Amino acid sequence: MKTYPEFCEWVVEFIRRTSVDLPVDVENAIDVAKGAEDPGSPADNVLNVIKENIRISREQSTPLCQDTGTNVFYVYHPAGPSTREMSEDIVEACKEATKRSYLRPNAVDSLTNKNSGNGVGRAQPWIHFEEWNRDDVWIRLMLKGGGCENCGTQYALPDRRLKAGRDLRGIEIVVLDAINNAQGLGCGPGFIGFCVGGDRASSLSEAKKQHFKKLDEANEVPELRALEERLYEKANTLSIGPMGFGGKTTVLGVKGSYLHRLPACFFVSVSYMCWACRRRDMWIKNGEMRID
Ligand code: SF4
Repeated sequence: MKTYPEFCEWVVEFIRRTSVDLPVDVENAIDVAKGAEDPGSPADNVLNVIKENIRISREQSTPLCQDTGTNVFYVYHPAGPSTREMSEDIVEACKEATKRSYLRPNAVDSLTNKNSGNGVGRAQPWIHFEEWNRDDVWIRLMLKGGGCENCGTQYALPDRRLKAGRDLRGIEIVVLDAINNAQGLGCGPGFIGFCVGGDRASSLSEAKKQHFKKLDEANEVPELRALEERLYEKANTLSIGPMGFGGKTTVLGVKGSYLHRLPACFFVSVSYMCWACRRRDMWIKNGEMRID
C-alpha cells in the first residue's frame, strides 16, 4: 500500500497549475514594471502582451509558454515514505501532464536527437529528495524554460578580462556582465539567481534554486542582501528592457546565495529565468493536498 495513494494524480494537477498560472509575486512584479515604463513605448507594449498572455493562459488553462521547460522538483519528506515510489509517481505524472498538453514533450535524446514523445527522459524530470524532521511533505516545482537556461553562465574568479577579483565587487561585475550579455534574450525582463562558491555543479544548482524564493523573501546574509539590491538597481539602468526593446525594466528580481568553496576555486554561477517564472509549492498533510 502506497503512503500517498493519490500522489500521482495530485502531481498532475500541481503541474497544471504551475504551467498555466504565475505566482502572485511574479505577476505583481510585472505590474510594477509596466507602471514604470512610458505608456505606448516598446517596453510598455511588450509588457502588455505578456499580461494578456498571462490572462489567457489562466482563463483557458493553457501553458503560459510553448516551452514548458525542464521540470525541476524538490521534495522534502519525513522519514518513512518510499522516495522510489514518489519518484515513479512524479515521472508518471509528467507523462500524463504531457498527454494532457499541460507540458510539451520536452525530452530529446542528446545522442540520437529523437524526442521521447512522452515528456520524460534522463534528468527530465529532475528530482531532488531531502528528508526533514517534520511529518508533512513539501514539494517545490519549477518549470525552467530553455531560452533563459541558455543565458545562464558561470565565472571562475579572478577574471582578468573583466577585472573581477575574489570579492563582492568582483561578484557584482560578473553578474552584471551576465545580464548585459543576455541583451533581452531568454525572454526578459527576467529573474537572476546567483551563487558564490561551491564546485561547478553545486554552484549552478544553487543558483537555479534561487528562483524558488519569493520576491519579498529577504536574504538573511546582509552582504548578499545589499548586493542583490545593487544588482537590481544597476541592471535596470542598462536600458536593455523587456525583450531587449529598451526601457527601464531589464530584471524583475535578483536573489543570491553562497556555498563554501575549495581554496583553489571561486565560482560565481548565474541562472537566468524568463518573465514566465513558473514555480509552485504543494503540501501534503494528514492525507490532504494543498497547492500554493
Ligand atoms: S525563455 Fe521562458 S518565455 Fe521564453 S520561450 Fe523559453 S520558457 Fe518561454
